[in-house]
Amino acid sequence: MSTPLWNEHITEIGDDMKDDTKIIHAGRAPFDHYGAVNTPVYHASTILFPTMAQYLSRGTDPNVKVRYGLRGTPTSFALEDALTELESGAGTILNPSGLQAITMAFMAFVEPGDHVLVTDNTYAPCRSFCDNFLSRFGVTTEYYDPLIGEGVKELIRQNTKLIWTESPGSQTFEVQDIPVIADIARQAGVISIIDNTWSSGYFFKAIENGIDVSIHASTKYISGHSDVMMGAIICNEATYERVKEITDLFGNFAAPDDVYLTLRGLRTMGVRMSRQHTNGIKVAKWLEAHPLVMKVMHPALESDRGHDIWKRDFTGAASLFGFIVNETDQTKVAAFLDGMKLFGMGSSWGGYESLLIPTFPNENRSVTKWEPDGQTMRIHIGLEDPDDLIDDLEDGLRRLAK
Ligand SMILES: *Cc1c(COP(=O)(O)O)cnc(C)c1O
Repeated sequence: MSTPLWNEHITEIGDDMKDDTKIIHAGRAPFDHYGAVNTPVYHASTILFPTMAQYLSRGTDPNVKVRYGLRGTPTSFALEDALTELESGAGTILNPSGLQAITMAFMAFVEPGDHVLVTDNTYAPCRSFCDNFLSRFGVTTEYYDPLIGEGVKELIRQNTKLIWTESPGSQTFEVQDIPVIADIARQAGVISIIDNTWSSGYFFKAIENGIDVSIHASTKYISGHSDVMMGAIICNEATYERVKEITDLFGNFAAPDDVYLTLRGLRTMGVRMSRQHTNGIKVAKWLEAHPLVMKVMHPALESDRGHDIWKRDFTGAASLFGFIVNETDQTKVAAFLDGMKLFGMGSSWGGYESLLIPTFPNENRSVTKWEPDGQTMRIHIGLEDPDDLIDDLEDGLRRLAK
């Protein structure tokens, strides 16, 4: 599908074009901006109209594309168009953070009395929103086993409004059977949503796989430089108007400088993610062979239980994955982490630099257990030479064993 781009001077992006071409050309109209390659940053609240007729046109005049800063400018339209193209959606809504994209996506669809199904390995703040906010408004959340597959059908009730998926899920990286879940949802008249941050819409096409709404923390790989907060809700034809209406009611807005940085990051996301795919697999295989590592949760490894579905549905692997070390003594785990030279310790991921943190997945699940005999870790592989990263990990695991 070729989506209607807001600007007629823009390069026509054909459906037959490959992602790496779309990432470069979508959302750009240089000759509307004095030939500047990048869509400039528009800082605007007030937008002026030359005539009363245009001021009062309320969407009927095709020459009036910008009404008020809150409702978007060429800067935000450019990023929205590019993300819509990348995920084959009908439209995109930007949000000031990935978490806001999550909460807005829920708010667009739920009403008091509704029941929602949420995967048990979902991003922890998504769980907090369901437990501490939706519950106050009479919306019941039921968590389900991420590996449930077609079993999700049995959980759908009369009042089920939406099914929330995330694949691979946070911390434990189970791969969900998205085409099956999306199909069951559609047949039951239930909205299906995915948190597609891991693949960034580059390695997995959520909407083409039957999902209604794909949300992203564009904070991660899309912006890619660990300096921006940004979220996006990418909708199919059936859901776009609804999500747009509700987010407008909330006054949802993403700031122009951050939108610009996200778009700038997107332009190189293809090469970054391809390199990170390769580097990530190299490090994952090295970890898998290490005697102190009990398990590696990386769907591109043949040993991974999600490998077959990943291979069927994804075109590559992000460089964020998990592993379990053969040790739970927190002093030893601290010796491992505190001495790392190249790996930083911190929340978030998707930047150009490598990260390593301990995780405690069992604290954020309720219907499945995560109780391995070792410490679970989360690793993000950046753009460093993977051999240097492996040396750093080798030294770290030596400190762990001491
Ligand atoms: C980081 C993250 C988010 C939230 O994004 P922010 O921009 O940090 O609010 C949502 N989902 C997943 C899977 C994430 O990793």
